[in-house]
Amino acid sequence: MAGYDQNNVFAKILRGEIPCKKLLESEHALAFHDIAPQAPVHVLVIPKGSYVSSADFFGTASDAEIAGFCRTVAQAAEQLGVVEQGYRILANHGADAHQEVPHFHVHIFAGRDLGRMIKPPEK
Ligand code: AMP
Repeated sequence: MAGYDQNNVFAKILRGEIPCKKLLESEHALAFHDIAPQAPVHVLVIPKGSYVSSADFFGTASDAEIAGFCRTVAQAAEQLGVVEQGYRILANHGADAHQEVPHFHVHIFAGRDLGRMIKPPEK
């Protein structure tokens, strides 16, 4: 994948140049509601550092950043009140996964039966 684009939409959110509906913030991560929710609960968690994708983040971020990010995902789920009923976390990496925003992020989906893990191929 290409290098980090400082003008991607999540970089702008982190710099405060465009607003977001913030859920919570920690030293290393920010959680906010998706602008086009695909489930009754749809939250994004992003690291504050400049990482393009999951390969970049998990491969090169510091242990503290990775731990802080994971803890923020857990805290977000807790704060959303979805831990007991269930939720799905998902990260798209690259073209085949249809990653749209080139700043690593995890989706948290919840609030209804989320069905199968992956849509079956169309016949
Ligand atoms: P992905 O396809 O995994 O890259 O997902 C990108 C997600 O970012 C999509 O679900 C979009 O709806 C969401 N998104 C794009 N712009 C914004 C924004 N300004 N605020 C919140 N979510 C956004």
